[in-house]
Amino acid sequence: MTTTAGGPPARPIPTPSPLSRPFWEGTKQGVLRLQQCTRCGGFEWTPQMACSRCLEETLQWVTATGRGSVYSYSVVHRPQGPAFVPPYVVAIVTLAEGPHMLSDLVDVAPEDVRIGMDVEVAFEDVGEVALYHFRPARGPATTVPTGAAPRGEVIP
Ligand SMILES: [Zn+2]
Repeated sequence: MTTTAGGPPARPIPTPSPLSRPFWEGTKQGVLRLQQCTRCGGFEWTPQMACSRCLEETLQWVTATGRGSVYSYSVVHRPQGPAFVPPYVVAIVTLAEGPHMLSDLVDVAPEDVRIGMDVEVAFEDVGEVALYHFRPARGPATTVPTGAAPRGEVIP
């Protein structure tokens, strides 16, 4: 494991797969991407080969709002390894588009986290990839378009 001078060991970083590569290319560019079904318009997280609602196999990557709310969370006091410095918050975020996303919460004291609090994505470039985190939202929520047609910015 790589170590940083004087600090904890470097955190393990994700290795993009062919399926998740568009997502990680997005985080590197500072955008959160989700797959969207071209038939029913539903959003997917984690990356899927087919829509979990209608089984359509054509999913397109779109730019998400990057906004959501805390569905549930836990304060970690005994981390899984020395690279993670406790206490830190692990949360399930309900994205504005619907899917739940597991993440950590940053820029907030563990005792200040609340179920339902509005959060927004933040990115941390760590070299090969950019990690995503969520932090308390700093501005008004972005409206998520509704309807069955494909939504959002389409990523070619
Ligand atoms: Zn579908």
